[in-house]
Amino acid sequence: MIVDLPTSKDFENIAREWFLHAFDILYDYGIEERDISHLGLSQYKFNKTKLSSIIVLVHQSFEATLKATVCNLTPLLLLDLKPSDWPTLPGVKDKSFDGLMTIGAEALIKVFCAVNTDVEATKNLVPLFQEVRTIRNQIVHSLYKEELNTFYLLDLLFRVSEQLFHTDLFALLRTRDGDFPNEEFFANNPHLEDDSQGTNLEIRYRLQSWAEEVLGNKKLQSYLKNKGRAYNCCFCWSTIDRYETKTAYLRPNSSVSKTIYCSNCLDCYPVMRASCLDKNCKGNVLYEEGKGKLVCLTCGTEGSAPDSL
Ligand SMILES: [Zn+2]
Ligand SMILES: [Zn+2]
Repeated sequence: MIVDLPTSKDFENIAREWFLHAFDILYDYGIEERDISHLGLSQYKFNKTKLSSIIVLVHQSFEATLKATVCNLTPLLLLDLKPSDWPTLPGVKDKSFDGLMTIGAEALIKVFCAVNTDVEATKNLVPLFQEVRTIRNQIVHSLYKEELNTFYLLDLLFRVSEQLFHTDLFALLRTRDGDFPNEEFFANNPHLEDDSQGTNLEIRYRLQSWAEEVLGNKKLQSYLKNKGRAYNCCFCWSTIDRYETKTAYLRPNSSVSKTIYCSNCLDCYPVMRASCLDKNCKGNVLYEEGKGKLVCLTCGTEGSAPDSL
């Protein structure tokens, strides 16, 4: 018999681990790159190997996810061994699955499409896999001449997260042992601006503001499914040091909506729809901080509510 057959769960776990490790490398690199550019230094040595390894890990993660789907039917479809050569007859010595040849990426994608009944889902997944595979092959054969950059790689991680894990990258990171991202990574990261670990709220904010700096607000919010104008979150604004990137959005996104949702603290807050107390500000989303004390979530102007409100 063929023994020690892998399970879907085995491949799912490894796909997730490799993918998250790819993120760690990018974030580590990205924060260092940002700190250096903030210092006004232009001669930052391009770390080609580190960025290339992200593509290799994402490719491995892709392959593992495809294998997980195939395993739902049977891992035997992953074997690159004719059934006539299978050691399965009575009396034939058992062989471990690990010791047998398995199919390459080209065959794997075809087997995956054959067993995956969700044809719509494969329409986006297959071209993305081919994109990653092409770059990965060029990298491992030393033929890749372009410069990988943080914009392309972070955008890729968001796209791959949607296809492989059916969730946005940030939501995937939040599933990491309850921490976001894991505190061990942050404890060992020498590029953080201060010595303190900060709370999860601050860690999430640091990540979100970096991602917005890299991708731009529009692209990031399209991945996070936030629509419309961004506002200060009344809670994060008063809790986080140097809160500069707006993280709250009207839910639903309409001119009469009276609720904001913050993609950082992941909570909803009631708001009032009235003009900002500063006549120069066009904001009309206010939060009642205390009795009769309002703050504009666009510009931060505070004041007392006029009697008309
Ligand atoms: Zn918030
Ligand atoms: Zn205002």
